[in-house]
Order: sequence, then C-alpha cells, then structure tokens
Amino acid sequence: MTASPARAPLTFIHDALEDLKSKHLHTHLRVLAGEQKPVCVVDGKEVINLASNNYLGLTSHPKLKKAAIEAVRKYGAGSGAVRSIAGTMQIHVDLETQIAKFKNTEACVVFQSGFTANAGTVSAILGKEDLIISDELNHASIIDGSRLSKGTIKVFKHKDMADCERILKDTENWPGKKLLITDGVFSMDGDIADLPALCDLAEKYGCITMIDDAHSSGVLGKNGRGTVDHLNCHGRVDIQVGTLSKAIGVLGGYVCASRELIDYLHHRARPFIFSTSHPPAVVASCQAAFELLDSEVGAKLVKKLWANTAFFKRKLKKLGFKTGASQTPITPILVGEAAKAFEFGRKLFEAGVFAPAIGYPTVAEGKARLRAIVTATHKRADLEKAAQIMGTIGKELGIV
Ligand code: PMP
Repeated sequence: MTASPARAPLTFIHDALEDLKSKHLHTHLRVLAGEQKPVCVVDGKEVINLASNNYLGLTSHPKLKKAAIEAVRKYGAGSGAVRSIAGTMQIHVDLETQIAKFKNTEACVVFQSGFTANAGTVSAILGKEDLIISDELNHASIIDGSRLSKGTIKVFKHKDMADCERILKDTENWPGKKLLITDGVFSMDGDIADLPALCDLAEKYGCITMIDDAHSSGVLGKNGRGTVDHLNCHGRVDIQVGTLSKAIGVLGGYVCASRELIDYLHHRARPFIFSTSHPPAVVASCQAAFELLDSEVGAKLVKKLWANTAFFKRKLKKLGFKTGASQTPITPILVGEAAKAFEFGRKLFEAGVFAPAIGYPTVAEGKARLRAIVTATHKRADLEKAAQIMGTIGKELGIV
C-alpha cells in the first residue's frame, strides 16, 4: 500500500515531524502485550516496567476484573447517554457516594477522565472576570481549564509561597473570584505541595482552593485518602480532584466538594453535560478498587508502595543519580539535555528497563529526565536489577 500524498495545507505537519526527527526527539508509541504488570512485554521485549501509574497494581487485580465482568452481564457494555440525559445509572451514583465518603466530603461527581475533571471544573466555576493563581508545574489539564475559563492566569514559581503571596497582594482588590490551585503531588517531579501554607494564603486573601490529587490518591494519607488527609487539611480545600486511572487502576476522574458545588457542576461542567458516561464495567471496577483500598488489603498495598519507593530511591542515590525534590514513588532521574535523556531511555529499554524519557513540552527545556515510577507490586529483585542496569548505562553516557 502506498502512503497517501501529503496535501499542501498539511505540509507543516510533515515539517514539524522532520524537525523532531532531526533533533532525535521523535518517538513511537510503545505497545504492551498483555496486562500492565511490573515485568511485562513491550514492543515484543520483556522489560522491568517503571513507566506506569499503576501504583497499587490494581489494573489487573482479580476483584476488579470480576466486578467488571459481572457489571457487563448485569448492566450491559455501555451507558448509552450523557449523565445529564439518560446516562446516569444507579452504579454511577453509588460510586460517587462511595468516593465522597472515602474523601470525607459532602459529595462527589465522576468525570470521564482526570483531565476532563480538572478542565471541566475550572472552566465551569470561573469566567473572564476571575483570577486563577496557579503553580508553574501544575498539570496540563489545569492549564487548559484555566485557558478555557477565559479568566486571568497568574503563575507562581513552583512551591514558592513568597511568590504566591506577592501575586495575592498585588491582586488583593481583584473584583472577581480568585482560585488558588495546585497539584497535590507534581507529576514530573514527585514532590508534594505545601498545602497547609497554601490554605493559609487562600484564607488570608479570600480564594477558592482546589487541588489535583491525581498522583496522591491511593498513595498519600490513610489508605491513600490523598494530600488533604496526609497534611491534615480537612475542611480547608474547597475542591479535591482525583483520578480513577492511576492508583485506582481503571479510568476516570472525580471532583469531591460541597453538595452545592457538585450540583452546580452537574449543570455547568461541559464534559459532564456533553460527553457520555462511563460504561458499567468501568464503574463497577472502580467500586471494587475503593472497597479494596479502604480495607486491610489497601493499607498493606500502600505500605508496600512506600517501602519499595524508599528501597529504589536509596539504590539510585547510591549510584549517584539526581532524583530532584521527589518525595513520592514518582522518581525523576535528571539528565538535562533532551537528546541525551531520550538516548538514555532508549538504551535502558534495549537492556530491559522501561523508564521513559520526558522532554519539552512536558517539562521545561533543559530539564529533560527519565521518569521512573515504583509500584507496590514490583519485586525487590526487579528494582535492584533495574537500578544496576541504570547505573551501568548512566556511566556509559556520563550521566553519573
Ligand atoms: N492530573 C495530573 C497531575 C496527571 O498527572 C494526570 C495524568 N497524566 C491527570 C491529571 C489526568 O488524569 P487522567 O489520566 O485520568 O485523565
């Protein structure tokens, strides 16, 4: 089969791809055969998998699989409509009640993804007369939601409370609403927001507070309740977003807040109103995941996750790698130059370790890195072997 000729108005696409290739930044999608496991087959090769967000190994937990299969039998394959028309099944409502209870909030609404939960919420509650004060390393979905709101966006230096307060002082008499927003755990650096200090500032300057706990739910706090629980900020954060796609192991996002705020989102959050709800299998496996998380099993998995994280970080530090400010299972291995980070990632893969390189625009130029994510289901021997291979190749490339 011959490729179709590029149409003239699309030559810029071809040029952009050629540009990436010339800079050795062009990648392909790696394909996983079988389940998402700590050792798995990717692109036909067995590798130690340090690339997933499957923190607790729930993607392939038998209880989640069983719940999904039973839900398909009972409720069918799809929900058939958007939530606000005919796509709200009893299990959607039950899952939301379960999450709200888990997070110790009045109410919850589930979205199709963490991305749409953030983008849909920020753009629903703020308008062009409003102000968003945002950490510079906040997730793309917060940035896109902020842009969609058409509000004014002011960005403070990463976790720099003095810079944040400078903005708040400058905008003290802002006529519209103010939203102070942060990731709980930062996805590329693995550090934790200074939430108590942000709450202090929000209370002092009259801001709405919102946290994106995508990488903290199932990871931080009692049985993985998240950053608010971990840093004892219950009642001080107006909006808690989480994802069902990482530690929970399935798909989706959710917003926990007051009943009125959730009611408002039912009427104003565009992804909720205009995009079909989760199929029953997704909902039921999320219910099974929260049930597990809130039990002895969950507590044990979270404990194992942290023990594995400490073990792997110790190994990397001993080898001389720089892991930045990471405080969580997300472990950046700082390289700097993007081409070198990609070469490191490629060579590691050839040697049986899957820890992808991350470059611009996901992180700032000159701050390229590998990102390794430890899970509760990694065996110590695999983590040890991965670290040892990283050390050998890191030396070859002059990274350590
Ligand atoms: N927030 C953060 C901090 C994330 O890392 C991600 C996932 N990359 C999301 C939100 C989006 O979550 P989801 O994959 O469920 O859309």
